[in-house]
Amino acid sequence: VAGRFAGRTIIVTGAGSGIGRATAVRLLAEGARVIAADISQPRLDELSAELGTDSLVTVAGDVSAQADVDALVAAAGPVVDGLVNNAGIMDAFLPTAEITDEVWERVLGVNLTSQMRTMRAVLPGMITRGFGRIVNLASEAGIRAGASGSTYTASKHAVIGLTKSTALFYGPKGIRCNAVAPGAVITNIEAPFHSAWAGERLGPIMQTTIPAPAQAEELAASISWLLSEDSPNVNGAVLMSDGGWSTV
Ligand code: NAD
Repeated sequence: VAGRFAGRTIIVTGAGSGIGRATAVRLLAEGARVIAADISQPRLDELSAELGTDSLVTVAGDVSAQADVDALVAAAGPVVDGLVNNAGIMDAFLPTAEITDEVWERVLGVNLTSQMRTMRAVLPGMITRGFGRIVNLASEAGIRAGASGSTYTASKHAVIGLTKSTALFYGPKGIRCNAVAPGAVITNIEAPFHSAWAGERLGPIMQTTIPAPAQAEELAASISWLLSEDSPNVNGAVLMSDGGWSTV
């Protein structure tokens, strides 16, 4: 929808690939000024080269690190209207007894702590202005097991709790905070539908059928809807954008 985000500044993390990239592209097309964050400078350079617009600001950094989040928010400027907490990583599909501290800390840092840090940074300004739109990326793994290893599942369940709590506290201040839970999406993330792990590890457990993988643009449509004024009454929701996977 042309112009739906005209005049808005929206931060998108993990914007160098997959769902985050498709979301950044869509928000720019709909008039937003997009602050695209990613840990990969080459991916951001590629995005800038392809889109080449003054409305795109790229910031390289690790969203799990406070100093990098500070730099990201500083690059956005004083007014941030929207935030898409999209950056996320998988967990090598480790079940609980095999979790290493390194995997646990890294996955929770990138998938969960980053979302708290970015929200903590932008919420004060949103409260002052009485306006904010936040979308956090959860997952099928946010509502049940069987879609990943234990650490990733824990991180995405926690994302949903953090989203609901944020919605509860700040809804009355004009801020809406929702989660989008993708099913299988074709991106660069390590995933069961393009690796052998599911067959080896989760295959015997997962008796349900996973719908055909979605394209990242389909997720960008769900995310942009929640960011927009087309979802005025939606706060603290978990939008399953999974082709119906959660129904089985
Ligand atoms: P992707 O790997 O294609 O893209 C993720 C981007 O995030 C990459 O460009 C990567 O460089 C960046 N990133 C990783 N760690 C970072 C960090 N510490 N700081 C900044 N940037 C970082 O992945 P995707 O599939 O597009 O995943 C996006 C989100 O969707 C994630 O939160 C993921 O958990 C979620 N998700 C994806 C699927 C799927 O099937 N693809 C399913 C459910 C949920």
